[in-house]
Amino acid sequence: MSEFPGETLYAVKANPSKWVLETLYGAGLRHFDVASENEMTLVAELCPDATMSFMHPVKSRHAIRRAYFEFGVRTFSLDCEAEFDKIMDETEHARDLTLIIRAAVSNQGAELPIDGKFGASPAQMITLLRRARPIVEELGLSFHPGSQCMDPYAWSVHCEQLSRVITDAGVDVDIIDVGGGFPVSYPGKEPPPMFRFASAIKRAFDRMPLPPHARLWCEPGRALVAEGSSVLTHVDLVRGNTLYINDGAFGTLYDAVHCKWTYPTRLIRQDGEPSSRLKAFRLFGPTCDSADMVPGPFFLPEDVREGDVIEIGMLGAYGVCMQTQFNGYGQAIEAFAADSPWASVFDNAAEPAKADWYANI
Ligand SMILES: *Cc1c(COP(=O)(O)O)cnc(C)c1O
Repeated sequence: MSEFPGETLYAVKANPSKWVLETLYGAGLRHFDVASENEMTLVAELCPDATMSFMHPVKSRHAIRRAYFEFGVRTFSLDCEAEFDKIMDETEHARDLTLIIRAAVSNQGAELPIDGKFGASPAQMITLLRRARPIVEELGLSFHPGSQCMDPYAWSVHCEQLSRVITDAGVDVDIIDVGGGFPVSYPGKEPPPMFRFASAIKRAFDRMPLPPHARLWCEPGRALVAEGSSVLTHVDLVRGNTLYINDGAFGTLYDAVHCKWTYPTRLIRQDGEPSSRLKAFRLFGPTCDSADMVPGPFFLPEDVREGDVIEIGMLGAYGVCMQTQFNGYGQAIEAFAADSPWASVFDNAAEPAKADWYANI
């Protein structure tokens, strides 16, 4: 996210693989958005001297206490007064906190809305801002526009909403965190290039009623990792336009099943050339659950057969990390490849990137 005109935190939940954390750390990223005790343990182990911010608006008391006293976390997000009280109790009324108040915003324009559970109304934000300002070291406001948000102007609209709250509250705000939600290129969902988002955000941030020292943050998950992984699956049976494969709803294809998303696919055959004529297939996962069905459609050579391998691309975010061991499946071999991503929203897309071949065969 070198195009982003502020500081980038990586939202660890999108893909907590060791190689992802090490690659981002190696590239100079030093700030991580964590949401659980396990994520804190992982980042502390793999990324020495990195800063962690606890950006889950609802945390257990145990996790808050460990974050503050064991992991040195000073930044916490919240969206209500009960959570504010928990944070103050469990940090023993610390005076060195950065609190980020999460706004409820419309997730219109997002392919995967996440506005159902979190976010404070303008009136609640004003109450929280006034209560927290005299106590905390730094105060911030954040929002999440929804994941895979295709419209750069969504960020402008949300920043304007925050501006009204700041003016009405009449307090200084030190940090604006414009969330994650940055989109990548999936079949049928090709967003504008990333610099368009960066420039819309920069213009919106510059118009906000903020003190000169105010800082801008973002916390992407998907955009940083989706392009980095493919999954190789094995065809165990072909029946009409249905392929029975060894990955599915309980594996890496969670969004493909539950949100009916499609991903780019490619057939890999060891001996001989597959047909150049393509046909639409759906995929059945390996478990006995009838929900384990991936509607697609996935366009593959019409003569696909048992024993073929299908590469499913763009599964680096909320894909490879979703795998369970249900029904005895879910064992995979991880391998690294140094080729370019399937599709990229970043300017340097032509340069070879470190890709991860998540072999599932
Ligand atoms: C999941 C999440 C993110 C990352 O969202 P993406 O859509 O993957 O960019 C960022 N911030 C918070 C608080 C989240 O829950």
